[in-house]
Amino acid sequence: MPQTVRGVVSRAKGEPVSIAEVVIPDPGPGEAVVDIQACGVCHTDLHYREGGISDEFPFLLGHEAAGVVAAVGPGVTDPAPGDFVILNWRAVCGGCRSCLRGRPHICFSTHNASQKMTLADGTELSPALGIGAFADKTLVAAGQCTKVDPEASPAAAGLLGCGVMAGIGAAINTGGVGRGDSVAVFGCGGVGDAAIAGSRLAGASTIIAVDIDDRKLEWAKGFGATHTVNSAENDPVAFIKEHTGGNGVDVAIEAIGLPDVYRQAFEARDLAGTVVLVGVPRPDMTIELPYLEVFGRGGALKSSWYGDCLPSRDFPMLIDLYRQGRLDLDGFVSETIGLDGVEEAFHKMERGEVLRSVVVL
Ligand SMILES: [Zn+2]
Ligand SMILES: [Zn+2]
Repeated sequence: MPQTVRGVVSRAKGEPVSIAEVVIPDPGPGEAVVDIQACGVCHTDLHYREGGISDEFPFLLGHEAAGVVAAVGPGVTDPAPGDFVILNWRAVCGGCRSCLRGRPHICFSTHNASQKMTLADGTELSPALGIGAFADKTLVAAGQCTKVDPEASPAAAGLLGCGVMAGIGAAINTGGVGRGDSVAVFGCGGVGDAAIAGSRLAGASTIIAVDIDDRKLEWAKGFGATHTVNSAENDPVAFIKEHTGGNGVDVAIEAIGLPDVYRQAFEARDLAGTVVLVGVPRPDMTIELPYLEVFGRGGALKSSWYGDCLPSRDFPMLIDLYRQGRLDLDGFVSETIGLDGVEEAFHKMERGEVLRSVVVL
């Protein structure tokens, strides 16, 4: 029997979100219904509400979530009801040209649930990133559920489902940060601080945090930054060179998505260094770079989508490191709120007051 639960819905561009009754169908073949325990508020949710991602309103928001599998559809053996899972938006298909070449972490045909969740009047909802987890329950593809150690705090674990994974993965998967490397991270919000935490985890010996907000630079120190520079007051490229023997960093991570910041990251890296873009640019942005330096400095200019993660490989491993006290996921949880706190959490996020507000159910 379909169930009716509460969910946070964005009905029209720019309008405040509200709680609505959401109808969750029974899981069909390849699907699972998950009891949501926690879901972080991510910039992407706000982008949906602002019409910046698509115009397929109404949206059921929320996508950084952890919970317990309530029911699975016919033929689903993994996960099983009762499993504690983090939801992911990279349920790999196994059959696309990328999966077939052994690169499932860049699958081009990821799975979502085939059935639709609806409003009480039957209007179909578009779930954010195919998840929709600001709700008591949600319907996803079975492959979107990644089983992890149930001892983990749901509020912390859920953050691996999107932003924190994007940042950690930008450092360790895309950037290939290793022991003894020097790293600069531009932008110290949730994703940037996760890139700092990932760099520390990987053994980077110098981690330079760059931001225009001193409060964020303080947060960055807590996640492992060895140096900080306020780029509104100082030239970050000069600062980074000064603290890397005049050379620049091995890996420069741009976690904002602004052309001027990308150029700083480009200039702040050592010869043969790597630039990783994990911030999301707007569609109207363009960038100009000295072409001879793109060639002459060697190295790599890379983009990091979802931290190049493979959820089945990365989520359980990172949860284990968290449980061992080696990765501070709790530090990303600035506050816990109810479903009715999401709109206010968007405003706090815009004002830069929080790393993550997390809805706890
Ligand atoms: Zn695939
Ligand atoms: Zn997100």
